[in-house]
Amino acid sequence: MSFVEVKNIIKDYYSGDITTRALNDISFSLEEGTFNVILGPSGSGKTTLLNMLGGMDTLTSGTISIQKQTISSMKEYELTNYRRRYVGFVFQFYNIIPSLNAFENVQLVEKMSPDSFDPLEILKSVGLGHRLKSFPQNLSGGELQRVSIARAICKNPEILLCDEPTGALDSKTGGKILQLLKDMSLKYRKTVIIVTHNASIAEVADSVIRIKDGYLDSINFNDRPKKIS
Ligand code: ADP
Ligand code: ADP
Repeated sequence: MSFVEVKNIIKDYYSGDITTRALNDISFSLEEGTFNVILGPSGSGKTTLLNMLGGMDTLTSGTISIQKQTISSMKEYELTNYRRRYVGFVFQFYNIIPSLNAFENVQLVEKMSPDSFDPLEILKSVGLGHRLKSFPQNLSGGELQRVSIARAICKNPEILLCDEPTGALDSKTGGKILQLLKDMSLKYRKTVIIVTHNASIAEVADSVIRIKDGYLDSINFNDRPKKIS
């Protein structure tokens, strides 16, 4: 059994008498510690897929399991526990708390997980050892995303889910953030899944899952992913 197993998942959204099938019979599996990308145009179902993996919403049918835990059959309180304990999230717009400094923003998650890493060590790993006491208003976009990555990793999650993590950054900064995500994935042996419409990320990933109109278009495994230049 692979670390991530997605089997025949379907997700319908209902509004009034309109049903939108956002995901249509998607199946794939991913190994532990790999760096993976979900690619697809806007509206193809990427965010829906990431939300399903993160236990943010329930499936219409099919199964998802992560490290042998079957998320798709969890009750609401179990899902809440799963999200808190086992999933790290990185968003396009960082979700950093403005009234706390960089260190405090990362330290917050220490209480959520008994197996968390030392916030100071993680902040140094993301290159922010000199920015510990800086407040979000004084940090650049790239630095804010580093804080957000540090916070996600500090929790010591089983899986790290990133929704357009470079979407608000210029391409040079974005490239550095991707390299950082990849380095952190290797160093802390985290399975990473990144959702994006930016196809250049595909070159550096262990696997590339392409979705189109809610269908799985293709999945490719790169034997030797390139380093980000
Ligand atoms: P095929 O070419 O027969 O389709 P693959 O080598 O593409 O087979 O993949 C078969 C299985 O091996 C996949 O379902 C996946 O679970 C696993 N796998 C292979 N390479 C990787 C990789 N780099 N990262 C994660 N899983 C992999
Ligand atoms: P992407 O992230 O690739 O842009 P989404 O997962 O956001 O795609 O959306 C996939 C499809 O599901 C789209 O047709 C979108 O309009 C629809 N959709 C997403 N969320 C909802 C929702 N809460 N209610 C109804 N339809 C939704």
